[in-house]
Amino acid sequence: MLYHSFLIKYAEIGTKGRNRYVFEDALVHDIRMKLRKAEGEFSVTRERGRIYVNVKSERYDYDSVVDALRHVFGIIGICPMVQLAGTHDISVLSEQVVSYWRQVYGDRIVSFKVETRRADKGFPMQSGEIDAELGHQILSHFPNTSVDVHHPEIRLHVEIRQFINLYSEILPGAGGMPLGTNGKAMLLLSGGIDSPVAGYLIGKRGALIEATYFHAPPYTSERAKQKVIDLAKQVSKYTGPIALHVVNFTDIQIAIYDKCPHEELTILMRRYMMRIAERIARDRGCIGLITGESIGQVASQTMQSLVCTNEVCTLPVYRPVIAFDKQEIIDLSQRIGTYETSIEPYEDCCTIFVARHPVTKPIPEKMRKSEQNLLPEISEMVDKAVESAELIWCDPFR
Ligand code: ATP
Ligand code: MG
Repeated sequence: MLYHSFLIKYAEIGTKGRNRYVFEDALVHDIRMKLRKAEGEFSVTRERGRIYVNVKSERYDYDSVVDALRHVFGIIGICPMVQLAGTHDISVLSEQVVSYWRQVYGDRIVSFKVETRRADKGFPMQSGEIDAELGHQILSHFPNTSVDVHHPEIRLHVEIRQFINLYSEILPGAGGMPLGTNGKAMLLLSGGIDSPVAGYLIGKRGALIEATYFHAPPYTSERAKQKVIDLAKQVSKYTGPIALHVVNFTDIQIAIYDKCPHEELTILMRRYMMRIAERIARDRGCIGLITGESIGQVASQTMQSLVCTNEVCTLPVYRPVIAFDKQEIIDLSQRIGTYETSIEPYEDCCTIFVARHPVTKPIPEKMRKSEQNLLPEISEMVDKAVESAELIWCDPFR
């Protein structure tokens, strides 16, 4: 393999002032964690506002490194790089640049531009002169190339430092902020398409994620629960291990079904989910809730319905897909790899106890009144649901 190191590009945002170290430390830490999964041995180094991944072993798997780095929030670009011994000799440098070009592009018809950065001022030419000379060498060795200084297809970066770095490919990274640079939030994770995407998006802002899943055995199967574990594992490839709290919701659902108006079932159920998730969230040090709700997608997600589900909790509720169309959410879920699991056909507790004509404009006072029907047992049922929640660690490495 030609490349033996990778230059990591990250956004300037959040890297100013004292925050810079917090941001970079978190990024380096996460890169190391993610690389544990890649084949080979690596070191991650930081040098004057740059992060490098260097390959230490004889052999390594390029694709698995790129895949690992693509799951790191905070990286905007991954540049596979050739690092050469330092030199002050332009003819040595030219030879190496020509050899790099041959290996990467061969005889491709392509326009290019050389961009040199001379950090080592001992090199006896100005960067503009180096650009011109290396450009000339490429043109004369590869007749299919042409120079385009404004919109080149390829920018060949030549960095003259203690070593010489050559790179010309920038693979897109996941973007966002490094993990752990923000607070922790509790994701209400169902087996659907939307909530895994919602968890991914909040994780992308640097938040740590835990998850709560409500299941209703025997109405929902073990397989439905496994599907949610699989989804949590997929999201955890980005966010790191996720503590998944599995709550038995059967008794509460049956109580609502038996004692409350059927057209209000979904909203009432969603209110209890929010309350329970918030209790677990507070116990676990989470300072926000996350749902996959999107305005108007179903009856329980009209703005009036959201008023009703929102009023039962005091933590902020993050709804990152609130303004997305379904297709946009699907596109994102395909990109992050959760879609195929989300569409497996196992019943979710929301789809089992459904009313034929659910309210679309629920009134909070009415909801509160309906909930009176559940007294006094409901508070004990909620306590029991919280206390008996099962904790499952969803680790991307297992
Ligand atoms: P999703 O695709 O995320 O399941 P949905 O379009 O099916 O969403 P609803 O079933 O109305 O929408 O649920 C809205 C949100 O409530 C979900 O995005 C999720 O955050 C939460 N939620 C719903 N059902 C459950 C569940 N069984 N366990 C945990 N959270 C749930
Ligand atoms: Mg759902």
